[in-house]
Amino acid sequence: MATAYFAPLDLEGALEVMRAEQPVIVAGGTDFFPAQGRAPVKRPILDITRVPALRGLSWKDDWLRIGAATTWTDVLRADLPPAFDALKAAAREVGSIQIQNAGTLAGNLCNASPAADGVPPLLTLEAEVELAASDGTRRMPLEAFLKGPRQTALKEVELLVALHIPRPPAHTTSAFEKLGARKYLVISIAMTSVLIGLDEEGKINIARIAVGSCAPVAKRLRTLEAELIGTRPGALEITAAHLSELAPISDVRADDTYRLEAVPHQITRAIRAATHG
Ligand SMILES: Cc1cc2nc3c(=O)[nH]c(=O)nc-3n(C[C@H](O)[C@H](O)[C@H](O)COP(=O)(O)OP(=O)(O)OC[C@H]3O[C@@H](n4cnc5c(N)ncnc54)[C@H](O)[C@@H]3O)c2cc1C
Repeated sequence: MATAYFAPLDLEGALEVMRAEQPVIVAGGTDFFPAQGRAPVKRPILDITRVPALRGLSWKDDWLRIGAATTWTDVLRADLPPAFDALKAAAREVGSIQIQNAGTLAGNLCNASPAADGVPPLLTLEAEVELAASDGTRRMPLEAFLKGPRQTALKEVELLVALHIPRPPAHTTSAFEKLGARKYLVISIAMTSVLIGLDEEGKINIARIAVGSCAPVAKRLRTLEAELIGTRPGALEITAAHLSELAPISDVRADDTYRLEAVPHQITRAIRAATHG
């Protein structure tokens, strides 16, 4: 039997398909189709890429809205303040240009891989997700949305409609570090995103640090963040002792010890890059 394929042109149409058809949602398809392999798709497909309201980045009341069909390439082309440099750096390293042209930030989040490169920068930007069903919408921090490997707070009938990011303080800058077995087309062994603000004396007054691929979901390192406040970039020696929130596993890409050794170097380099020093 042929699979039904829905490509609505507005959000109401998409939510109606969600209600009536219990479809699988596909945006870029760059996670969905490789995972499907040769198996037939048994449920109807909802393609959300033709809904104009779901595509693009826009500011309103000091919040940046990123629609669910917004691609990595859209992010790279957007004019954004330096606090978004880490997100752009992650975008530049997702797969290849072809993957960046089709793959979306929302798909990266909903796929909920521990190695999703978009998560650490979006955690440091304190992103929220907007989820919609035919009977209403709800919003929650990204941290609450990601529940575990391949697990999110999405209900069967819900669509992730947009990410919302509060405007970061004007003096903040950011950087992203990705470690893999090679430079391109590689799944991260570990990745780190930092967002840093310096006061007039050059001391850190905002520190947000998130690490991915080293726990079931990417984590903010809040103990380290607190310790960095009031220090100058590079003054605090970051060691594995600062990584209490992480619980890396050993897998085909690297063992847990290697990850714990690599991350302090990533954080140190990222802080240096973010503060241009
Ligand atoms: C060759 C290759 C290289 C890759 N390299 C990287 C990499 O370096 N880093 C990285 O992080 N990822 C990488 N990926 C994975 C993938 O490209 C990204 O995760 C991408 O952002 C997924 O977006 P998508 O729009 O293609 O998602 P899709 O495949 O369309 O969807 C992914 C999942 O999310 C669900 N979904 C999508 N949109 C929504 C929505 N709006 N609401 C609810 N559910 C939704 C889908 O049902 C599906 O379960 C790679 C993939 C390939 C094939």
